[in-house]
Amino acid sequence: MMKRILVVEDEAPIREMISLVLEQNGFDVAQAADIHSAQTRLTEPFPDLILLDWMLPGGSGIQFIKSIKREALTRQIPIVMLTARSEEDDRVNGLESGADDYVTKPFSPKELVARINAVLRRSSPVIEHELLSFNGLILDPSSHRVMADQQPLDMGPTEYKLLHFFMSHPERVYSREQLLNQVWGTNVYVEDRTVDVFIRRLRKSLEVGGYDKMLQTVRGSGYRFSTRF
Ligand code: CA
Repeated sequence: MMKRILVVEDEAPIREMISLVLEQNGFDVAQAADIHSAQTRLTEPFPDLILLDWMLPGGSGIQFIKSIKREALTRQIPIVMLTARSEEDDRVNGLESGADDYVTKPFSPKELVARINAVLRRSSPVIEHELLSFNGLILDPSSHRVMADQQPLDMGPTEYKLLHFFMSHPERVYSREQLLNQVWGTNVYVEDRTVDVFIRRLRKSLEVGGYDKMLQTVRGSGYRFSTRF
């Protein structure tokens, strides 16, 4: 399905240029010249991503991001900010308010499309029904079961979700914060330490076949699921 992008930019030539580039790259584009008209475009069908210029008439980008993140229907929509090179503080504020990435003007069409695709990839849900298998450890999403050497393992729903995420992204290190965002969701307030607790519980469940070794602590960085040890 075509991904829909809402482009919020007050300067018409830039907005048109971006829209053209995105359409040429297979996106469905909606345009808005200010925050008010952007807000009226936040209805069904919702955009898959919002490209938001930082300097807009009628309110700052931060207020708009906050209003998007406040609403349950829109808070999952990823936001990429467009900023000028001199607006470094705004970029930090934007990322802290919930933007997912930023692109600095002037940018090349290629860079813009690459950034957008990367953010869309990060925000799309894991394919739910693929059977995941590593060295005899099998997670079957269709039956919601985890087997270690053909023996079913017992685990709670959060441990299952955590393991599903790790097995879908093997050999990569994730920080506690990234795990919280991926497994618990970006708008849930959970302490970082919670991750450690669930990692411990998951390791305990995996001890049966000695698979706890696959769930590795990477000192100073976070955790990794790996078949190499
Ligand atoms: Ca502008």
